[in-house]
Amino acid sequence: MSIHNLQFLRSFLTSISEGILVVDRKYTIVYANKALSQLFGYTEEELINQELAVLIPNRIKKQHTKFVDSYNKNPKQQKMSDRDGIFGLHKLGYEIPIEIGLNYFKNDDEQYAIAIISDLSSVKRTNGFLKNIHHIITNQGHSTTEKITDILELGCTMFGLNIGILAQIVEDDYIIKNIAANEKHKQALLAQPSLKVKDTFSAEVIIADEPIFRNNLSSSSANSNALWNLENFIGAKVMVEDKLYGTINFSSEISSDFNFNQTDLEILKLIAQLIGDMIKRDDLVSKLKAFNTELESNVASRTQELRYALKEIQDINVSLKTEVKKRIAAEEAANSSLEQERKLNDLKSRFVSMASHEFRTPLTGILSSATLAEKYAEIGNKEKHHKHIQTIKKSVNHLTSILNDILSLNKIESGVVACQPIQFDIAELTEDVVESMKTILKANQTLVVNKNIDGEPTVFQDEKLLHRALINLISNASKYSDEGKPIVLNVSKDSTNIIIQVKDSGVGIPLEDQQNIFTRFFRASNSGNVQGTGLGLNITKNYIELMQGSISFESEPELGSTFTLKIPTNYNEE
Ligand code: ADP
Repeated sequence: MSIHNLQFLRSFLTSISEGILVVDRKYTIVYANKALSQLFGYTEEELINQELAVLIPNRIKKQHTKFVDSYNKNPKQQKMSDRDGIFGLHKLGYEIPIEIGLNYFKNDDEQYAIAIISDLSSVKRTNGFLKNIHHIITNQGHSTTEKITDILELGCTMFGLNIGILAQIVEDDYIIKNIAANEKHKQALLAQPSLKVKDTFSAEVIIADEPIFRNNLSSSSANSNALWNLENFIGAKVMVEDKLYGTINFSSEISSDFNFNQTDLEILKLIAQLIGDMIKRDDLVSKLKAFNTELESNVASRTQELRYALKEIQDINVSLKTEVKKRIAAEEAANSSLEQERKLNDLKSRFVSMASHEFRTPLTGILSSATLAEKYAEIGNKEKHHKHIQTIKKSVNHLTSILNDILSLNKIESGVVACQPIQFDIAELTEDVVESMKTILKANQTLVVNKNIDGEPTVFQDEKLLHRALINLISNASKYSDEGKPIVLNVSKDSTNIIIQVKDSGVGIPLEDQQNIFTRFFRASNSGNVQGTGLGLNITKNYIELMQGSISFESEPELGSTFTLKIPTNYNEE
């Protein structure tokens, strides 16, 4: 092998990450590359010419010697690992899980064994880490903050360092979010009023693409601003949605012989990524919660608004209802006064038509009789003169009776007329009425009186009102019957009432008019040329009611009518 090739081989062996060890038959180390020396805590020179035994833990030395003896007798290519009970012994005395690829070669009749040794500790640590991290992340009982602290603690164990920190970086500020450390370090860190990024190793972390690690820091100047003298540091950026959130780092003030390797950096990257994801998730959850709260409060305030609106509508509704009621009442009042007015107008027009008819005839009669009477007086015809004077008197009496009716009505309306009861004999009253009617009845008209009065004929009532009422009814019976038609007056009395019926066989009252005959100035359509004012029945009804009695009638056109009075025998003065 040329010098050149030898140098290449050396530099190759030095640079590879696997440890390479060559021993002779007497188990003396003849070659150890850099990786192997570092794995076992030695320098390359320290190991040359050492017994292989220095690298074997005591507990397996015997077993190992046996194995090497048999291997020397029958050397072959072979692979072994901690599963076969193979462990290395670190210079500091602890065991290292290793994997060995064994082979042999001969040189100048000398047989050498060559071992390619890989450090299994990082593989083992990785497996352990993955198991633990899974456990931490799936722990339902822990909050995100607690989970992050758990991860920091796991990192500390993993890297053999005693301080783990998650810090948020906001502009220049280094804000510690979670710490895994002993109380002393925790208190010291939290007591810091405000930390600046530039005073921490994170200043280096955030500008590097990959995680960084530093060993043997106590001998460097980097510690000048640190709280205590750091010996080891490993740190990575924590990104949340592609933006820098902060850093995660592990450090120790105790000098440890730990060598960070690629696996550690990968694990750190994984931790940083996990924490970033957790923060993102948490952020999202809190945003969702805030959104939800906002939504709930929006819904609540909207509901409140709706409630107010509903209340307003209800209030408006109530006031509308009141308004509607008021308007209906006002309308009813207007309608009723309109109705009153209409009735009054009706009354007026009925009065005017009655007056024009009933007054004109007697007035014309009076005028012509007066003229004639004057003439007959001039020519000395006393008889004719007297006749016309009588006609004038009759007409004047008629006019007087109309005016009396109108006056009576007025008196009734103004409450002047009142019932003035006295004790009188109903039989006597009947006879008086019959007597008064004699001059009024038409030719051949008879007034038949049937009395059926039980016991005492005296009653306690207004005699005058009853007298006028009966005269009215009998006058009508006479007026609306032809000559020769009989009129019947039935008078009966029991302990409580006087019942008087006035029956005629006259023209009767047309059905359609029957409901109006007690209305003032109303005259039925068949009243023809019969003189009248339409006031008699209205006045009669008022009189009867003043006497606490009632009036009713039955009538058939062409056949006749019967008017019935029912009046208490004893007017109740209370
Ligand atoms: P009038 O002065 O016109 O008789 P009343 O008030 O006494 O006024 O009667 C009202 C109307 O009732 C009369 O105009 C008439 O049409 C009708 N009437 C009253 N009594 C009778 C009766 N006995 N027979 C038929 N019609 C009658």
